[in-house]
Amino acid sequence: MASPKFQSSKGTYDILPDYHLYFSFIKKVVRHRCREAGFRRISTPIFENVDVFTHSIGDTSDIVEKEMFVFESKSGKKLALRPENTAGVVRAYLEHGMHQEPQPVELYYIEPFFRYNRPQKGRFRQFHQFGFEVIGEADPAIDAQIIYLSHKINQDLGIADRLTLQLNTIGCLDCRKQYKEDLVNYYAGKERSLCEDCQNRLHRNPLRLLDCKEEDCQILASMAPKFETVIDAECKEHYTLVKEYLDELKVPYVENSHLVRGLDYYTRTVFEFWSNKEGAQNATGGGGRYDELVEMFGGQPTPAIGYAAGVERTIDYMKEAGIRPPNKDRIHVFIAQLGPIAKKRSLSLLSELREHGINVVGSAGKDSIKSQMRVADRLKAKYSLILGQIEVQEGTIILRNMDKGSQEVVQMDDIVKTVVERIGDNSLKKKSLWEE
Ligand code: AMP
Repeated sequence: MASPKFQSSKGTYDILPDYHLYFSFIKKVVRHRCREAGFRRISTPIFENVDVFTHSIGDTSDIVEKEMFVFESKSGKKLALRPENTAGVVRAYLEHGMHQEPQPVELYYIEPFFRYNRPQKGRFRQFHQFGFEVIGEADPAIDAQIIYLSHKINQDLGIADRLTLQLNTIGCLDCRKQYKEDLVNYYAGKERSLCEDCQNRLHRNPLRLLDCKEEDCQILASMAPKFETVIDAECKEHYTLVKEYLDELKVPYVENSHLVRGLDYYTRTVFEFWSNKEGAQNATGGGGRYDELVEMFGGQPTPAIGYAAGVERTIDYMKEAGIRPPNKDRIHVFIAQLGPIAKKRSLSLLSELREHGINVVGSAGKDSIKSQMRVADRLKAKYSLILGQIEVQEGTIILRNMDKGSQEVVQMDDIVKTVVERIGDNSLKKKSLWEE
């Protein structure tokens, strides 16, 4: 076929039905684990006033510097497609008075996000994240529980063995201020050995130099002063407890003193899940504390922590692990029919079978039975029901097992019961849509 006239925009992709199986499964697992832990779902708008992001993420982060989709409304307001969710959730937390509810407030989300970056494997301009935020609690036990929840979801999805949890603390603003000075002093005179990005970041965000992927920068970073030399007693105690609680919960981790995360709003605990294999785009997700952020948005000092994972990258890891999510879309039954009376009868049969939780597709019946059966084959239906003029007259219907190629004649009155028995899947028991 000649290439189509229109194609999806660079860095975006269509979620086709097969890929949606992964999406649905991930959503189901996330929803289940989050509900179990008392989280409630939140969705904020896809775009916000640009200040919501610049104010919180920090001017020196890659996201704000280069990756935001910023546009003007007709009235000249500067808006941005959200590149991440924490800023929007904190804005909503304050806007809707959630700080007056019992604390902490625990929220989760599964949403699309937008970053204008160079597309490559595992990196898109429109991508999806699931994540959670706990706002209003400073206890390190919450850090451990958030990490545990992330780890548990990775386990449920069958990818935990492929990932290593990297853990670090970047302390509070006070210890970090001292550390930033120490880093700038250490790098003084070494600027020429740094990559261009790091040279630019040195005075604006020196912490970022620690996680640069360039070899020369990494060598210098490995000899840089350690955060342990400046961390204050409270931040140290917090970090020690997080590790003790993770040990208690049997969540394996590796301490990585170079893990800083790109965004300004993080404090104390930071963590990411990295692939065990070498590779550039390898983190499935990451998070950390952001104890100053609510205050930066004009609220009372309110400690908080969050985590976000990339859905597309999670799916890549699931595929690598050979994991196929259950296919709830499979067609159980195809109804082929011939003639106007058969067509009428097949309509009520379709709805009766669907009421019993059976996935059933009916043919429009314009073609011969033979070509209708070819459609049933293509749909990989388990059974076909064939209703011709003779069957209608005799009050029967043909039930064909598509795998075996065998068929039998069944009384019309018994067909729903027979099909339900044959499909024999307990999950078919029809649940009311309102059932919990
Ligand atoms: P971040 O908060 O930037 O660390 O993002 C958390 C996770 O979202 C990452 O570990 C990725 O799995 C995913 N992610 C971030 N940016 C992109 C992107 N441009 N395309 C696909 N996934 C992304």
